[in-house]
Amino acid sequence: MTAPQIPVDDLLKRLHLANTRHRWRQFVQHAEKEDWSYEKFLATLVAEEVAHRQQTRLGRVARSAGFPFLKTIDEFDFTLQSALRLNMLGSYLTADFVTEGRSLILMGKPGRGKTHLAIALAYRAIQNGFDALFTTAAALIEDLSNASRHGKLNAALTRYIQPNVLICDEVGYLSYGPDAANVLFHVVNERHLKARPMLFTTNKPLKAWGGVLHDADLADAIIDRILERGRVLEMDGPSYRTKHLKLDDSPPQTEPQGRPRISGMGGPSFPEPTLCRASTNGPTKTPDLSRLKFASIGTECLVIR
Ligand code: ADP
Ligand code: MG
Repeated sequence: MTAPQIPVDDLLKRLHLANTRHRWRQFVQHAEKEDWSYEKFLATLVAEEVAHRQQTRLGRVARSAGFPFLKTIDEFDFTLQSALRLNMLGSYLTADFVTEGRSLILMGKPGRGKTHLAIALAYRAIQNGFDALFTTAAALIEDLSNASRHGKLNAALTRYIQPNVLICDEVGYLSYGPDAANVLFHVVNERHLKARPMLFTTNKPLKAWGGVLHDADLADAIIDRILERGRVLEMDGPSYRTKHLKLDDSPPQTEPQGRPRISGMGGPSFPEPTLCRASTNGPTKTPDLSRLKFASIGTECLVIR
């Protein structure tokens, strides 16, 4: 008896299973050659479709985030930092970062890897199933100031409030218009109310944000909200861009045993298990939320010097 002619390609097309449509004949050949069970054949076909979709989603969401470059946490060389270590990032590498609305201010001189780290954390969040938006403080302030002048602030705010993770890069590098603090406050306040995390990079100490934003009280209110569930990480070491020139005379400090020097503490501040440590084979390719270890770091602001 011959098998009935079922238009598999047409049916897969109707189900929008483009990858399966492309590959199912290959799997049939393998299955016949290697004598797969029906269950193994079906599982392989479905797993392949899911993996393909996850990969496609990762590329699409990362592109729409607007990162100026894509860097991962695995590409970050922690040995250049005197105090910052991978395990101190703890839950910032897990879904907790987003679900608990933690924020982070990455502070330091140029070339210390602030933008790299912010992008890497946002990319990890994307791998964990969330979305992100990258903007500079200057672009955000200009965009929202313009919108405000045209009475369209509320509509314009949506773009910065909606994404699960917002990177606001380079606070303090450029000078901003007079209502900088006002428009930034709207973004921070709305995101804070919705417990959505923000990643800031800055070359200015927090006490200088009042001057940068032209309003000390609003700057305080902004920082207060960011740090309610957030932390400040100071980044040091030589500039990665010019480290070959050996311009920096303060190389990363390590204790005699080679352990990182962290003020007031003998060990890492937050030795939490991270997804990154669980898998040493590069970035997580397929988000698997069931494997994430959830850990809490509380709500304190920690400044590491
Ligand atoms: P910043 O934002 O602090 O000025 P960036 O994050 O833009 O610095 O880093 C400048 C370049 O140096 C980027 O290409 C980044 O990937 C690289 N870089 C900086 N620090 C590190 C590091 N610790 N490990 C690997 N690459 C780094
Ligand atoms: Mg930068």
